Amino acid sequence: MSNAKAIEAVKAVSTNLVILPDNQTYDDLVNTYFTEWERELKPAAFLCPRSTSEVSDIVKAIKPFAFKKTFAICGAGQQATLGVANVRDGLTIHLRNLKGVEVDLKRNIVSVAAGERWGNVHAKVGSLGYGVVGQRHSSGGIGGDAVQLGLAYFSYARGFVCDNVINYEIVLASGEITNANAETNADLWVSLKGGGNNFGIVTRYDLAIFRQGDMWGGKVFYFQPGLSSQIQSLVEYLHDPDADLEVHICVSLGYAAAIGDHLCMNDVFSMKPTMPKALEPFANVQPQIDQMNSLRVDTLKGLADESFGDVTANRVAKMSTTVKADTGILEYAIQTYRTCFEMIKDVTNILFSITFELIPVQLISQSIARGGNATGLTPSDGPLVVILIYTSYDERADDEKVLGAAKQVLQLIETEAQNRNVFHPWLYLNYAFPNQDVIGSYGVERQAWLQEVGKKFDVDGFFQIAGTGPFKLEKP
Ligand SMILES: Cc1cc2nc3c(=O)[nH]c(=O)nc-3n(C[C@H](O)[C@H](O)[C@H](O)COP(=O)(O)OP(=O)(O)OC[C@H]3O[C@@H](n4cnc5c(N)ncnc54)[C@H](O)[C@@H]3O)c2cc1C
Repeated sequence: MSNAKAIEAVKAVSTNLVILPDNQTYDDLVNTYFTEWERELKPAAFLCPRSTSEVSDIVKAIKPFAFKKTFAICGAGQQATLGVANVRDGLTIHLRNLKGVEVDLKRNIVSVAAGERWGNVHAKVGSLGYGVVGQRHSSGGIGGDAVQLGLAYFSYARGFVCDNVINYEIVLASGEITNANAETNADLWVSLKGGGNNFGIVTRYDLAIFRQGDMWGGKVFYFQPGLSSQIQSLVEYLHDPDADLEVHICVSLGYAAAIGDHLCMNDVFSMKPTMPKALEPFANVQPQIDQMNSLRVDTLKGLADESFGDVTANRVAKMSTTVKADTGILEYAIQTYRTCFEMIKDVTNILFSITFELIPVQLISQSIARGGNATGLTPSDGPLVVILIYTSYDERADDEKVLGAAKQVLQLIETEAQNRNVFHPWLYLNYAFPNQDVIGSYGVERQAWLQEVGKKFDVDGFFQIAGTGPFKLEKP
């Protein structure tokens, strides 16, 4: 793409759409990104539409100059993956000026503009006595979750965030503004649910809402000896065909230089305002750090406001793998994590953690019941556990060392999982690292189908060729 010509073409539509590096707003936009990895990629210009028609104008303006991967799409910049929503020396279409959260109680829908963050959605929907399957943290952007699956507190009972998108309003490569839902462009609708930024620029998400009062949940911190019992409990939960699905469980072990120690954390949640039996093992683990226990009755917004309060962090990188729900492999994963941590424990301000995200069979069934998504996962694939390695540190000089350790943890886990016959190839898009082939992990047939849908709605391959990002329909 000739950036200069593309920028001039967008300026011809409106000079207000283009933010160049000499503009104060440029730095504000850079600072919307969660990880330093993304902030370091300084684009030649940010393009900031204020309406769906301006998104369409931008696509039409830059398309004639597009030939090589140089434009990125950014929702709120909260995904911690290098190059996913920003591009060095290219053009970043930043959607933060697309604002608005509208509730339609007749249709039980909340319409959310693509530049919003989940906190506003939870606040608006919650104030009316409703809930929405949205992210667990208020600072998160909508887009990354709604086109990349999205794990929510309600997921076991209602599927991923994307499974609850009734309709996407989207700008296609031609500049056409269209909708994708169960009746109109149904193949595009399913592909968008987990297919990422490969099909167009979504400008509005219509999500299902449901009656929801106060809930119960929060975080429990405890010491390492308690962890084995938690692994046992989470695997038992996942294998229980009658499990209470109105809960959410996330178990982590992490080292933070700031506190100089390893701690374990359970993030638990119930859709009812009391502690359910299913969560007793996770809430009552002993010995725990009583002063840090935040279990309480609260609103969804209140729960989503907790923890990762900062919207920017240092050099955060995430990567993950998936295994069957099996105690042996999860115990192995913890041992491996501990061994690899020894390689990096002296890194300045290191935060290194391993998290287990539960994918019950019923979650997969809920995805299918809601029309299906891009992954093509079926109940027989589950129950699964996504193992996330989260790293955060200060210095670029430590990149190789820290990322090397994180990759090694995952490699060893994957090899051992294969040996134990509990490996699953599916990769969770929100927690993938650039070297991981997410769309390929959906399987050969599913990938081929997504490529077909891509060609149908983007004949020239604009989003594949000119669009950047590591998770394209075909891994280069
Ligand atoms: C503090 C914190 C908490 C988190 N909690 C959760 C959690 O509870 N559950 C979970 O699943 N994940 C969680 N994540 C991960 C995060 O929500 C996802 O990475 C998500 O992608 C962020 O959304 P975003 O719109 O900010 O994405 P961005 O970083 O802006 O973009 C991510 C990807 O989505 C694409 N994209 C974004 N908007 C659009 C659009 N409108 N049209 C087309 N493509 C688009 C981008 O091109 C890019 O490929 C968390 C992250 C942080 C930092």
